[in-house]
Amino acid sequence: MFGWFRRLAASSPDIPDALWALARERVRLLDRLDDDELARLRAVVARFLASRNLLGVQGLELDDAMRVIIAAQASLPLLHLPFEWLGHWHDVVVYPGEFRVRRTHHDSDTQVVTEWEDDLAGEAWESGPIILSWADIERDLEAPFEGFNVVIHEIAHKIDMAGGASDGMPPIRDRAVRRRWRLVMQSAFDELNRLLDEEQETPIDPYAAEAPDEFFATVSEYYFSAPKVLEAALPDVHAEFTRFYRGGY
Ligand SMILES: [Zn+2]
Repeated sequence: MFGWFRRLAASSPDIPDALWALARERVRLLDRLDDDELARLRAVVARFLASRNLLGVQGLELDDAMRVIIAAQASLPLLHLPFEWLGHWHDVVVYPGEFRVRRTHHDSDTQVVTEWEDDLAGEAWESGPIILSWADIERDLEAPFEGFNVVIHEIAHKIDMAGGASDGMPPIRDRAVRRRWRLVMQSAFDELNRLLDEEQETPIDPYAAEAPDEFFATVSEYYFSAPKVLEAALPDVHAEFTRFYRGGY
């Protein structure tokens, strides 16, 4: 841990001006924020860095610039939400590139265990770490407005999990709003799957049709990096996400 990050945890947190300027320059998604939002984000970023352990692996050395770039993107979805919705976990593990994971599935009907390997850009464990690929983070920095952002995707999974299960239902308390959220998301999810079944093109990344939790995480990427695409493709979903991420629930 670098010196000022350690101090951050102990004293009133702030990000040094030069580092914040660098985050502003590299993370183009921040261009959309006004001065009040930027000031608020800076405080969330400081809190994120003070409360999480960012850790490079496989020879990747994280410097302060890389940490603040990751934290700025991780904090964007939390801008208007309670910080506690990030959940109780500690580590952000960063690989130099995509990482290979072994999957196992046990079918309880047939008793068959299937194993396979996946190459991933990011992963969020339930009550465990977030795992990221630095190469993919850099790709998002270079093409910031195209609907992809691996950091936001994994943070969205954490916010989803703060609502209980990883099921695409973030922590919304109002029962009527929850009901409406479920209806809007289910109908968009079903429509995406229908298009895929008919081998038609989908208006957003078909990965959103994998499962309700991937729908929430993938749509969150669009909400922050290509909101106009999302609004045109799924206007009802965009409206719900706007109320949610603007802290309106
Ligand atoms: Zn995911």
